[in-house]
Amino acid sequence: SAKARERGSWAVFAPSMHATAVDRLRTETELRTGIERGQLRLAYQPIVDLRDGGVVGSEALARWGHPERGLVPPSGFLAVAEETGLIIPLGRMLVQEAAAQVAAWHREGRVRPGFRVSINVSNREFWQGAYPARLLEALEAAQVDPGWVAIEITETVIMHSAEQALPVLSRLKQAGLRLHVDDFGTGYSSLETLHRFPVDALKIDRSFVARLDLDERSTELVRTIVTMGRNLGVEVIAEGIETARQAERLVEMGCEYGQGYLWAQPLPAAEFAALLAGEPLPGVP
Ligand code: C2E
Ligand code: MG
Ligand code: MG
Ligand code: MG
Repeated sequence: SAKARERGSWAVFAPSMHATAVDRLRTETELRTGIERGQLRLAYQPIVDLRDGGVVGSEALARWGHPERGLVPPSGFLAVAEETGLIIPLGRMLVQEAAAQVAAWHREGRVRPGFRVSINVSNREFWQGAYPARLLEALEAAQVDPGWVAIEITETVIMHSAEQALPVLSRLKQAGLRLHVDDFGTGYSSLETLHRFPVDALKIDRSFVARLDLDERSTELVRTIVTMGRNLGVEVIAEGIETARQAERLVEMGCEYGQGYLWAQPLPAAEFAALLAGEPLPGVP
């Protein structure tokens, strides 16, 4: 609920769903300035091993600390960033921030050896010719082991052109990065397509987790994805877990990993590190 979100360390700005052209233009102008002034930062949400509550990684999520509007979530700027191409410099900046952060956490011994940060990549970023080379350069510059990084792409990226996506993903995979398919279940990727891609994890979209046991189709879809992951030898991460009951049901179905407000909202880096100090988080034994 909005109340629950407001309880977090940051207040949340609720953008209008029907932005006018003037609003969009203003957002574009302010976003350009905001990027230059370092107003766009990452928040980190733990990805938890459901069995033992260990934090296996974190998803990096963009936040805009707007001087007047307060904290703006991606729904308030991502579409404009993608339409205007601002997503390219923004994405580059956020990759540098995530890389520096995960390197620091490993160096300081705050995380377990296999801990990784997940970075979201939108269509427009992914389809830039220089994308994989730039990403690998940024990781190298920050002295990041590529195994500490997962990229989250949606099914639409793959389905946009499976033939062209495959060499890009294979290159990243060969370099040692992990590949997660985000919002899984909302798109149309076939089992056959997935099988050809070097995927490490499927992330069950939170809309299905929210309707677990409330509607039969969602419940069956979750069960199917978990089984599919098992059969493909791919990890399954459930998104948007808000209740202990949802976590229990997911474990019963064989799901191994999850993230959601049950454990933590996306947090500023310092608060995330404080949360790690209290690891393990409650699991589902
Ligand atoms: P996503 O990658 O599917 O991220 C998960 C979203 O679910 C995040 O929303 C997260 O805050 C939210 N969430 C996590 N746990 C819960 C929960 O228990 N309940 C509920 N109701 N929500 C939960 P957020 O941060 O608003 O991000 C929205 C989307 O924006 C992301 O969806 C991702 O597609 C995109 N995004 C975020 N950061 C970046 C970025 O740095 N680059 C790019 N290209 N896209 C980003
Ligand atoms: Mg994601
Ligand atoms: Mg997702
Ligand atoms: Mg999503």
